[in-house]
Amino acid sequence: MNIILLGPPGAGKGTQAKRLEEKYGLVQISTGDMLRAEVAAGTPIGLEAKAIMAAGGLVSDDILVRMLASRLSKSDAAKGFILDGFPRTVPQAEALDRMLADKGLKLHAVIELKVDDEALTDRIAGRFTCARCGMGYHDTFKPTLASGVCDACGSTEFVRRADDRRETVAARLDAYHAQTAPIIPHYAAAGILRPVDGMADIDEVARQIDAVMATL
Ligand code: ADP
Ligand code: ADP
Ligand code: ZN
Repeated sequence: MNIILLGPPGAGKGTQAKRLEEKYGLVQISTGDMLRAEVAAGTPIGLEAKAIMAAGGLVSDDILVRMLASRLSKSDAAKGFILDGFPRTVPQAEALDRMLADKGLKLHAVIELKVDDEALTDRIAGRFTCARCGMGYHDTFKPTLASGVCDACGSTEFVRRADDRRETVAARLDAYHAQTAPIIPHYAAAGILRPVDGMADIDEVARQIDAVMATL
């Protein structure tokens, strides 16, 4: 199964992608995680992306399309994948169509997490992640079970993203509405758009996604 998780920043794409990975044996391909790894490693792509990401803008289509093409050619992608954070522009969506056609692969569904802008600011401002295993949490909506200890791996070190500041959120939401939302009609026309109520709590969103998966 090859699916896209689409939605604004903070909608719950990463949270649901991690769950889908485990439950259905798919691989999560997060372009945000890939870019953060490039920034951390100080590669040429990382150097170019760093300031753009910090300002809440979108990194160039050219870089993203090349990055995704090389990721999709790794052998694990054959298990089926969940794209988290890609495509984010119409040219990226068109490039993805071509890439998949070349490989003889099909896109089964684009699951759109619909969340109001007002809720996103609080989700992003409270987001943190385990520094060791990458498990995602939220100060209010998904705290660790034991205070300061990762449920999954026991680590006591956590990180917050540099771009998860209230000041940057508005720019990221603008980028979503101006550049990413226009890809929605593309998938609606293809008959594979599956909207889900992303305002519900994490478990309820997961149930709705499972209901979609059951139809594929
Ligand atoms: P995205 O990958 O779309 O940016 P995340 O999965 O990182 O979003 O979720 C953003 C933050 O909101 C995280 O802190 C996460 O724990 C929390 N979160 C995710 N889904 C929900 C939900 N349905 N209700 C409340 N909080 C959520
Ligand atoms: P979120 O989980 O909040 O939606 P991501 O982790 O997916 O954010 O992305 C973080 C940042 O990385 C984006 O704000 C953008 O600068 C950059 N980025 C990620 N994916 C793409 C993409 N497909 N096209 C352009 N920029 C991207
Ligand atoms: Zn952990």
